[in-house]
Amino acid sequence: MRTPGMALFKQQAVEDFYDIGEELGSGQFAVVKRCTEKSTGVEYAAKFVKKRQSRASRRGVRREEIEREVDILQQLQHPNVVALHDVYENRTDVVLVLELVSGGELFDFLARKESLCEEEATQFIKQILDGVQYFHSKRIAHFDLKPENIMLLDRNVPLPRIKVIDFGLAHKLEDGADFKNIFGTPEFVAPEIVNYEPLGLEADMWSIGVITYILLSGASPFLGDTKQETLGNISAMSYEFDEEFFSKTSELAKSFIRQLLVKDTRKRMSIEDALNHPWIKVLCVCVCVCVCVCVCVCVCVCVSACDLN
Ligand code: AMP
Repeated sequence: MRTPGMALFKQQAVEDFYDIGEELGSGQFAVVKRCTEKSTGVEYAAKFVKKRQSRASRRGVRREEIEREVDILQQLQHPNVVALHDVYENRTDVVLVLELVSGGELFDFLARKESLCEEEATQFIKQILDGVQYFHSKRIAHFDLKPENIMLLDRNVPLPRIKVIDFGLAHKLEDGADFKNIFGTPEFVAPEIVNYEPLGLEADMWSIGVITYILLSGASPFLGDTKQETLGNISAMSYEFDEEFFSKTSELAKSFIRQLLVKDTRKRMSIEDALNHPWIKVLCVCVCVCVCVCVCVCVCVCVSACDLN
């Protein structure tokens, strides 16, 4: 039953407009499948979110939560954030037709490489920061940043473009209103989430600190044997740069992580601080210069080859 104020999603069958293909991934109450728009032949990712069928049920997602995800996605258009194309609804699911991000999860990319060199890591982190700066500027917090929610557009290019996905836990923060909640993935949540304190954009910055730590080392800073142990480690700020994983890591990179993994949210780096941190600024400029030099060298080689012919 539709109640006043509910968002109106397309009530036609999504299958009438899209050919639905293989499964790309799944979440707790969502399955994501490749799909092709019949009228254009363009490929998308269809996220089928199971609707909660009754107030008493614990299965499925409440309609207002799905509406919030859609509402937030509709406000976002950025090269490093997944785009929403269309929304359908049937009795059991709401179907979000999203931009297809086909290079796989950063998580899998990492699993294959174990860890990244700093130049590579800053290329990913800079893109994550650019996306986060965009939605933070709209006072939108993601609240579930983790490598699984960072996807690559195309893994086979030298500097893959990344996209932040899954705004299922995201919230638009209202001025003056305290927002508290318990959610997220234990390994990546900030101490203020563990301690059920008011939340803000700073929670995402903490998660970026954890992601950077993992990108550089392949190890997870707070992960314990149980969920309780992990949350205890976060609350106690119990982490270190283990020599086994960080012997070759620069002090600048460690300072970037240290300034994000700060318990006091007022002292934690903001998104602007992070973008201005020398580790990001200096290394990104170096990589851009290297890419430009390589392109110039290739062009020169091609031109001289043409001249010789
Ligand atoms: P989600 O519930 O949004 O985190 O999606 C679950 C999984 O589906 C993700 O971890 C991805 O593997 C996959 N997925 C989600 N969105 C997309 C997308 N836009 N393009 C390709 N795969 C996606």
